[in-house]
Amino acid sequence: MQIAKNAVVTIDYTLTDEAGEVVDTSQGREPLSYIQGTGSIIPGLESALEGKAAGDSLEVSIPPEQAYGPRQDALVVQVPRERFESADEVKPGMQFQTQTESGVQVITVVAVDGENVTVDANHPLAGATLNFAVSVVGVRDATAEELEHGHVHEAGAHGH
Ligand code: ZN
Repeated sequence: MQIAKNAVVTIDYTLTDEAGEVVDTSQGREPLSYIQGTGSIIPGLESALEGKAAGDSLEVSIPPEQAYGPRQDALVVQVPRERFESADEVKPGMQFQTQTESGVQVITVVAVDGENVTVDANHPLAGATLNFAVSVVGVRDATAEELEHGHVHEAGAHGH
C-alpha cells in the first residue's frame, strides 16, 4: 500500500546537515515508525513520503520552513544565574530542559558573564536545511487503538 494519512510507516533514515555531517540516523538502531498525517515527524519529510510504498528510497532536501523553522534572535535571552540554582556548574554549550507553555524545551547556554547567563532557546536544528536519505521499510494501516492513542504500538511492546 501507499503512504497516506493514518498509515503506520516504518523508515530507515539518515539525516545530514549542509556540511554533509551526519546529525541523526537509524543505522545501527531500530527503524523509525510513525503515523502519517499526525505531525509526529517534520512536515517536509511527511509530505515527501506521501504516496511512497515499501521498498522505495528517496533523498530529499528540506528547507527550515518545512523542518524546525527559522532561527529566531528573540529566543536568545539573558537570564539570572540564580535561575540555575539546581546546577553545580553553568557553562557555554550546556543544555537544560525547561518547562514552557508549549511543553518541554531544550535551551543551550551560549555565554556566562558573572550573574548573567545568555541562553538560546532555538531548536538546535532551527535555521538548518536538512538532507534526508530515507528507505521505506513498511507501510500498514493503523489500528483503531493506535489512531485513538496517536502513536504506534509495536507487537508486544506496548503495555496498555
Ligand atoms: Zn498507546
